[in-house]
Amino acid sequence: MACYARGCAAARPASRPLRTFANARASSSSTPIQRRQLHPIRLSTYFQPTHKASSTASGDDTLASLQLLLRGGYIRSSSSGVFTLLPNALRIVRKLTAIIDSELHAIGASRLAMPTLLPAKLWRQTGRYEIMGSELYKLRDRRDSDYVLGPTHEEEVTRLVAGEVESDRQLPVRVYQITRKFRDEPRPRMGLLRTKEFLMKDLYSFDKSAADAAAAYDDVSAAYTRIFDRIFTGAHGRRWVAAEADTGAIGGNKSHEYHVQDAAGEDTLITCTKCGYAANTEKAVSMPDPQHMPISASDVRVLLYACTDPDVHDTTIHALVLPATRELNAVKAAKLSSSLAPGTQLLYDSASPSPAQWDWKDRPEGPLIRYSTLAVLADFECASLDPAELNDALATALSTYSSPSASPSSPSLSLGEIFPAQFNGDAPVAPALTLVDVRTAQANDTCSSCKSVGSLHETRAIEVGHTFFLGERYSRALEAGFLPTAALKATSGAAMSNGRVPFQMGCYGIGVSRILGALAQKAAADFTQATSKPGLLWPRHVSPFTAAILVADTRDAAKLDAASRVYDGLITKARTHDLSIHAVLAGILGEPTQDDVGWSSDEAHEVVIDDRRAQLGAKLADADLTGYTYRLIIGRHLTPSSPHIELQHLTPTGLHSTLIPLETICN
Ligand SMILES: [Zn+2]
Repeated sequence: MACYARGCAAARPASRPLRTFANARASSSSTPIQRRQLHPIRLSTYFQPTHKASSTASGDDTLASLQLLLRGGYIRSSSSGVFTLLPNALRIVRKLTAIIDSELHAIGASRLAMPTLLPAKLWRQTGRYEIMGSELYKLRDRRDSDYVLGPTHEEEVTRLVAGEVESDRQLPVRVYQITRKFRDEPRPRMGLLRTKEFLMKDLYSFDKSAADAAAAYDDVSAAYTRIFDRIFTGAHGRRWVAAEADTGAIGGNKSHEYHVQDAAGEDTLITCTKCGYAANTEKAVSMPDPQHMPISASDVRVLLYACTDPDVHDTTIHALVLPATRELNAVKAAKLSSSLAPGTQLLYDSASPSPAQWDWKDRPEGPLIRYSTLAVLADFECASLDPAELNDALATALSTYSSPSASPSSPSLSLGEIFPAQFNGDAPVAPALTLVDVRTAQANDTCSSCKSVGSLHETRAIEVGHTFFLGERYSRALEAGFLPTAALKATSGAAMSNGRVPFQMGCYGIGVSRILGALAQKAAADFTQATSKPGLLWPRHVSPFTAAILVADTRDAAKLDAASRVYDGLITKARTHDLSIHAVLAGILGEPTQDDVGWSSDEAHEVVIDDRRAQLGAKLADADLTGYTYRLIIGRHLTPSSPHIELQHLTPTGLHSTLIPLETICN
């Protein structure tokens, strides 16, 4: 019987030679490969509308980097918080997405593209249609169907994956997209830093168990470290930081933010100079500080919370106490109050005391009548407060709240009088304390990680990435899960009503257009530091171009011809030696380069020829705004007897100039 299996020599007809990679190369080497003609980008036909200083001022937005992005022809404003990315910005974005793609493919994530127009039904199912409120763009089509413009895609991707995955054998799934997202931002400003429409990378992970999902979280965190190192680490060191974060409206129970420290940022980070601890101020913690610990009742701030909903039976009033010298952390306080009975509200705050609005004539029993128990949530710094002083502070707060007038002269009731079942008579009795962290950590506090005294600092930062461990937050709401195989059945958690086990999920964002804004902030500062002039010095791997050939006088045919020869010379060297354009130019200057990329046809577009009919001065000013690493100036040194060009190298230490014989590049 004939054998047709792959690799079975007996089945192969003897007359047909086996074609291998080795002989394929040998046979084609006899006829030279016809290489595709490569064309330079010529600025005379390239769309980069540049402007002189101060001609593009945009409203009262005075962010220096935004002005440079407008002047340099990177972006244009379409409407408030909405921008067009011009070709130069798009080149940077492509380089950013290439970095993101390579690192996410390395952890087994696949790129897809989901729609922007999303049915509202799923958003109602997860509750986010209401939770996101007016930040969500909502619209209705001609058939009266409701849609949203996607700000993120948890609902959509969960439905997508649930429809394709049957059993845990098909897990894990890691998918991501880089698409435009929308948020009805109430105060768009700071250029690309706070916009209504933005480019975002969002990745979603689906796993069969919480342990697998935690491993996915760690994998993505490691990929984020590599991504942000490639984008934000260079001559000035590492410029980004990962910070512990609050989980906010997306939900879940583990979260980190990725920040670029910058004075223009709208987030505040608490960082430790000793151990590297970093957290968003909403989440940051610090060690209790003896300097702030209250001694007397007047040193304490008291907030009273209770359920006021007549349909909920809850008779406990909760007092939250913290040192009066400390700032209350609103996010921590909101989280605490949301863990209490449904309908719990803030009734009173001693920092702005006002009595209850109460109809004393019709209801003389007073506003505390419903409550029979007092529970005390005390910040850690109040743990050792004298019980008599604490009682005093609590009684004063309760009396002020429940008195017909806020007159400070009206006598305080004792806790025993207000809660006779809980407290006996007038003797000061310490109510049981539940210790909580509710104050805002601040500069000069003691680090809770390494215990270094006074080592915490506050810095402003731009958030460029965010990771969330979601668990079952979305999969349970959307009944999205898998049928467990027998091996997993015993260990997996409770199945849903459809018999499936919910996915354990994570979601991970990177703000791509915001990274462009953050990079511009750094590029503007770096250029000015290097040259004392306004301009942009981009990190080399993401700058729009590596080099520009500037022709001083385009009416001079010899100069135009030399520009073409320089371009061809650079491309030939790069192609022949499998080098990037950067490596070729660094080699000509005799500078060491640790370039990790070789030749690709993309390198042909890393060099532009500035052949516009303009003065050399104007071309150099535009070059400052584009931030070419190298400028090859074809001007007065191109003499017939000894033709030279000026090679300028832009580095963090300045713009360094060298005269190079034309033949060095063209040979
Ligand atoms: Zn520390």
